[in-house]
Amino acid sequence: MYKEIELTLKPEFINEYRDGYPLISKESVVDWNKVSQEGAIVNLVDNRKKFIVKGYYGIQNKGYGWVLTSKKDEKIDVDFFVKKIKPALKYREDFFSDKNTTAFRVFNGEGDGIGGLTIDYFDGFYMLTWYSIGIYELKETVLEALKSSVEYKGIYQKKRFDTKGMYLDDKDDFVCGERAEAPITVKENGVNFAIYLDDGPMVGVFLDQRDVRKTIRDKYAKGKTVLNTFSYTGAFSIFAALGGSKKTTSVDLAKRSLSKTKEQFTINNIHVDKQDIIVEDVFNYFKYAVRKKLSFDMVVLDPPSFARSKKHTFSASKDYVKLLKEAIQITTKGGVIVASTNSANFSMMTFRDFIKRAFKELNGKYTVEESFSLPKDFRVHDKFKEGNYLKVVFIRKLR
Ligand code: SAH
Repeated sequence: MYKEIELTLKPEFINEYRDGYPLISKESVVDWNKVSQEGAIVNLVDNRKKFIVKGYYGIQNKGYGWVLTSKKDEKIDVDFFVKKIKPALKYREDFFSDKNTTAFRVFNGEGDGIGGLTIDYFDGFYMLTWYSIGIYELKETVLEALKSSVEYKGIYQKKRFDTKGMYLDDKDDFVCGERAEAPITVKENGVNFAIYLDDGPMVGVFLDQRDVRKTIRDKYAKGKTVLNTFSYTGAFSIFAALGGSKKTTSVDLAKRSLSKTKEQFTINNIHVDKQDIIVEDVFNYFKYAVRKKLSFDMVVLDPPSFARSKKHTFSASKDYVKLLKEAIQITTKGGVIVASTNSANFSMMTFRDFIKRAFKELNGKYTVEESFSLPKDFRVHDKFKEGNYLKVVFIRKLR
């Protein structure tokens, strides 16, 4: 039975929600005790019970739910989700008609009007990611809306709502339609990617780096030696190699990265033998490179926001300066460092400051060539700029 629960906003938060702020924070509501079941539809009202906005209750690391509409009488049903999904598809029209790119995001959470849910497209397959039990409770309604809005080969899902926002392994992420081959091959700007829709939390590529990969291939790689750290399946290395790099070196701690990276090279007809793929802690590799006096024309840094290995704990907000200093020391003069982070904990300004500090501490000099944030398909909500977590800076080392 469809039911809505009334929750009272603290007065100081009312204007923010009237103004379109999409995240329902824990602090903004007085009487959370009135709602117990995640997925409940909640009407946020002022202390005279005047309606402000409607949303759903779902606990995520970011907050306690998301606003869905400012219309009091709007029901959160299949129609409602169709009205969100259709414009989202339209916004990606260019992607759907581009034969050279068959993997992209079609629905980006609050940016497309439903926080806590993303939908990615992989050559006819749709991948839903649920970020809270709350949004997952609405699964049947969302699915019906999606199925009536698109033609699909198959639909898959990832649940990312255990206590730390990590992936929940169901052993089977298939939802309906046809099962995908493992892997399927998708294209990005003409380059092949092997994608595994049902093999743990990650499918093989991070779609939000598309523009960065293209830039490396088209503008920076030619004739260069490239070190790709935290390389995962080697996506940056593949694009560098296709851009004519002299040689790529990919370094990742995870054992699976070796076979996965080989596979990506192979399906793009690049000789793996001429590329180095190293399974090792990046911080050890830096020490080795310094000892051996190695240097590279291009160094890509794309660490996770937080990672713990046997010897190191890395946190982007605390340790990025240190990471940059390691990279600067093994970058040739005139070479380029591609510094990337997906940490939502700090801004582009702070990130630029990290770069400044790292060079200053080494008495170095640099210029910023260009920078990137999320690409078009990762649509950001006007009133929720912190949703634009990606920061990538191309730095030229002058000294
Ligand atoms: N740059 C990749 C994505 C990186 S994901 C891409 O564009 O596809 C983060 C990767 O960092 C994971 O593959 C993880 O195995 C690796 N990693 C985490 N800590 C590491 C460490 N200390 N040394 C090397 N790799 C590490």
